Amino acid sequence: MRIVIACMSHETNTFSPVITDLDRFSGGRGVPVSGAEAIGIYSGTASCVGGFLQAAAELEASIEVPIVAAAPPSGPVENDAYEYIAERIVAAAPGADVILLDLHGAMVTRSYEDGEGELLRRVRAVAPEVPIGVALDMHANLYPDMVRHATVISGYQTYPHVDMDGTALKAGRITLAAFGGRVSPVMAWGNAPMLPHVMRQGTDDFPNSALQARAKEMEAQGALSVSLFTGFPHADITNAGLSVVVVTDDDLPLAERCRDELLERAWEDRRDFVYEVEPLQASLARARDLAARDEGPVLLLDHYDNTASGGTMDTTEVLAAVLDEGLEDVAVFGIYDPAAVREMAAAGVGAEVTVSLGGKLPMPALAEQSRPLTVTGRVKLLSEGRFPATVAMSRGLSMNMGRTAVLAVGSVDIVVISRHIEPFDPGCFRSLGIEPTARRYLMLKSRIHYRVGFAPLVAHVVECAGRGVCTSDYSELTFEHVRRPIYPLDGINSREGL
Ligand SMILES: [Zn+2]
Repeated sequence: MRIVIACMSHETNTFSPVITDLDRFSGGRGVPVSGAEAIGIYSGTASCVGGFLQAAAELEASIEVPIVAAAPPSGPVENDAYEYIAERIVAAAPGADVILLDLHGAMVTRSYEDGEGELLRRVRAVAPEVPIGVALDMHANLYPDMVRHATVISGYQTYPHVDMDGTALKAGRITLAAFGGRVSPVMAWGNAPMLPHVMRQGTDDFPNSALQARAKEMEAQGALSVSLFTGFPHADITNAGLSVVVVTDDDLPLAERCRDELLERAWEDRRDFVYEVEPLQASLARARDLAARDEGPVLLLDHYDNTASGGTMDTTEVLAAVLDEGLEDVAVFGIYDPAAVREMAAAGVGAEVTVSLGGKLPMPALAEQSRPLTVTGRVKLLSEGRFPATVAMSRGLSMNMGRTAVLAVGSVDIVVISRHIEPFDPGCFRSLGIEPTARRYLMLKSRIHYRVGFAPLVAHVVECAGRGVCTSDYSELTFEHVRRPIYPLDGINSREGL
């Protein structure tokens, strides 16, 4: 038996100016890993490929890994990167007994609005009868071609995504059972005309907590896999938004009933998926009051500009306000600015430097740009920027923030990095000698993923509206391609098709 396991994962923010080339898919290696090296890196990790490897290990099978290519969210995928990765996956497909693919589900390329659907179409063309199992992120924007050309689709049921390996294990086991003739998967899918706000999608919060609980209940009651995708709204494409896919064992009416119930419940909860923005000055005043209680670190969340939603990670508005307001004892993660890191490395640890920090990547999708922040401080530490992930999301994988410098501006420690990473694991501070629990304030460029590693460490979280292509204010973005009408861009109170 021959099982092919591969990954091509990207969440595309169509408003992001950050280039998505092959290097971004390689984690800094130049080209993505494959074969025994990939198996060595991903076995036993809290990742989709880790979950697929676990499913495959339950059988006597030869495992082939043509490529594992995962890029942090950013702008549309460059065509040459897409073709390089797709070619390797398609070339491995003929002769496979089962194909298991870790795809994000919200990948847009320079040429394809539905990057995953196009990939699956190509794979299906050379492997017409082979069971294809797919693991998708909860932020997938689902298209008909994904469902048409896959045998099984399962999506994460948690956000932060702490069930990546579990999701792939589930999809892998169902797909392998289909190969063995023990189940006959059928799928029903649909979407609702709504763009749930990312800040309101966390599965610790209503309504997604209840929706995902119901999905799990449906699985306990007989469906093979039930996935509700909250979708990724920072993508101006036809099918952005909330969708559902249900897999059952040869019972299409059951799949359709589950799908319809979840879509109806999500639609009823649509107002609870809307996020209200608080002005930055009000947020900082509130943060100061909370810090005065001395109950533990206050987390300032710079949610307009995070890597995991495709941000440039170099906007400076929240950091500038923190410095202007004179907040003390702050640890900041982080500002992406390779040029500033090079300057600080040249000056050396202990040197006093004045640098122009961040604000360097133009954001054509926004009317208002970010500006570089001129700061004077001391180079506190230099690092190659690698640390092992230890939290439930990505545990066991090596994180790479590139060459990194810590700049101390008074009592504000600013981490400046050369590769984009989302700060969800406290290792991003601790690997640099910064203990987050010992600080009065933490400032993180994150939206929801910080919760996996930082929620247990802080006393309060204050969401701070800054600037960036992950803006929490939809009115700052121009949507031209998403299907209309759609809630809340349009004030609709009914949806078609129910
Ligand atoms: Zn996601």
